[in-house]
Amino acid sequence: MNLSRVAAALAGAGAPSYRLDQIRRAAFSEAASSFEDIAVLPADLRKSLSAGVAFMSHALERLRVSDDGRARKALLKLSDGKVVETVLLRPSVSRWTTCISSQVGCAIGCTFCATGLMGLSRNLTPEEITDQVLFWRQYMRRESLPGRLDNVVYMGMGEPFACYDEVAESLRSLMDQKSFGIGARHISVSTSGLVPGIERFADDFPQVNLALSLHSADDALRTKLVPVNKAYPLARLSKALRDFVAKTNRKVFLEYVLLRGENDCASDAEKLVDFVKASGPVELLHVNLIIFNQTDTPHQATPEENARQFQSRLLSAGIHATVRQNLGRDIQGACGQLIAHG
Ligand code: SF4
Repeated sequence: MNLSRVAAALAGAGAPSYRLDQIRRAAFSEAASSFEDIAVLPADLRKSLSAGVAFMSHALERLRVSDDGRARKALLKLSDGKVVETVLLRPSVSRWTTCISSQVGCAIGCTFCATGLMGLSRNLTPEEITDQVLFWRQYMRRESLPGRLDNVVYMGMGEPFACYDEVAESLRSLMDQKSFGIGARHISVSTSGLVPGIERFADDFPQVNLALSLHSADDALRTKLVPVNKAYPLARLSKALRDFVAKTNRKVFLEYVLLRGENDCASDAEKLVDFVKASGPVELLHVNLIIFNQTDTPHQATPEENARQFQSRLLSAGIHATVRQNLGRDIQGACGQLIAHG
């Protein structure tokens, strides 16, 4: 929902200013799905707003629910016909998290990522980014799903720091108490390692969580897996992390997708330990080991028991590490699987 456009339409219709607050409350807190849904508005105003302003920046094209009911993936069609995917996850009984996209496609080209295979089409607007959260709030209301959606991770399609301004505006809107009202600590932004973005983020959003898609602590291998490593190699990344935690005193999550025979052996774990120790106080750096989700790429998943072994190596070196629970694999809604298929 674009509130400036709604405000302009209200002014054009000669409506009093408190109508905007009513719409804002209905849309963001009560998850109304259309102007027609907002009963406190006079019927003629509902009609003129419906005719003049789009309530949402996209329309639902397709929705899938995982077999265990803990993950849902929606394909949303934007006004120019392009599509993005967004995911709703229920990691525990009362918690809901949405994984949102910031771009249509992605230019970074990580070799294990389905989105990376698409290339970049365009950045999403701030409204298109936040409407994904609004979409899930509306969905939860329609489906009478218990609990509240107030965790957001920017880990869908796209590199958030490649469209920093759009993402920054969307973050301000998510944190705005008058609209989404989501706490900064409930929001995470994940980057493939664009150092200038990390530096700006530390100044602009010191309370928002940062995640780094690391995947290897060896420059040659990381350049192969995450090609942006060529521009921002590990030494620069490590310094950016040190500066980030020194400035924010916030924990950073290091994402590490385990790829069989590529980055999952003992020497890879050792390099990772060295990288973490060089990048800040170990209590502020947490490694998330991710079991790879098969995509249309040549990579293979590390079996779970090997992932546990890799984790033990990190733990015994004093590094905080978890093996991440992966929801939504069966609907291609898990990490690295988002693309307009399925
Ligand atoms: S993992 Fe993230 S940064 Fe890499 S290609 Fe996929 S969407 Fe882009």
